[in-house]
Amino acid sequence: LVRVRGITKAFGDNHVLRGVDFTAQAGTTTTILGPSGSGKTTILRALNVLETPDSGTIGIGDVEVDFGALPRGKAGRAATARLRAQSGMVFQSHNLFPHKTVLENVIEGPVQVQKRPLEEAIAEARVLLEQVGLAEKADQHPFQLSGGQQQRVGIARALALKPKVVLFDEPTSALDPELVGEVLSVIKDLTQQGWTTMIVTHEIRFAQQVCDQVLFLDGGVVVESGPPAQVIGDPREERTRQFLRRIL
Ligand code: ATP
Repeated sequence: LVRVRGITKAFGDNHVLRGVDFTAQAGTTTTILGPSGSGKTTILRALNVLETPDSGTIGIGDVEVDFGALPRGKAGRAATARLRAQSGMVFQSHNLFPHKTVLENVIEGPVQVQKRPLEEAIAEARVLLEQVGLAEKADQHPFQLSGGQQQRVGIARALALKPKVVLFDEPTSALDPELVGEVLSVIKDLTQQGWTTMIVTHEIRFAQQVCDQVLFLDGGVVVESGPPAQVIGDPREERTRQFLRRIL
């Protein structure tokens, strides 16, 4: 479902991605691990085209963009917009609209961006809020919710756009420790319901229990990839072993 080939990205002299390659099958969960600054967030942002790669190809579903040969102007913008619509991003801090209710936050994208009928969007939003355990909070405002609940609204909001793949950028790192579990449990539920997800996280135990594939990123490339039992349990590469020794 997700096909990434030869992605490079530099910020000035800082060559953050130096040729990233991987694939992710539909219905699977991929965790991206790696040291601070290795480009994990940049990869997720590239998939959602919040950063434009300098070269390389990203394909999600039946949309594929070759960033090395991106047409200038309108055609290029249309191609990147199509690719962006394939994925939904859940950020470290949820960025909810403070003046809108929980329900209004969830229907914003479907109604404003996708121009879907209001009634349909509301009905679907209620199902999603039920799914993340917040049905009874629909009419409250974000400030009335805990950090974990706000993050779960952020997840419902991403799902409301019906993306092919849901991208989570350190979804629990801004939370108090006692709220981490409820958010991880919602993400685990999604993976069991067949959503395709990619997660940047430092929660190694979660990665081991929940994900199908681990990508270990270092120095701007995927150093090692495979099932968690291999990459975390029995890494082949010295760099992976060093990293795991430091964090486990
Ligand atoms: P962490 O685990 O610390 O969040 P990461 O692996 O997610 O790190 P990225 O956030 O992808 O790393 O950043 C990789 C490098 O790119 C860092 O050196 C960062 O300073 C740089 N970088 C990221 N975004 C930008 C930007 N918009 N402009 C300039 N430099 C950037």
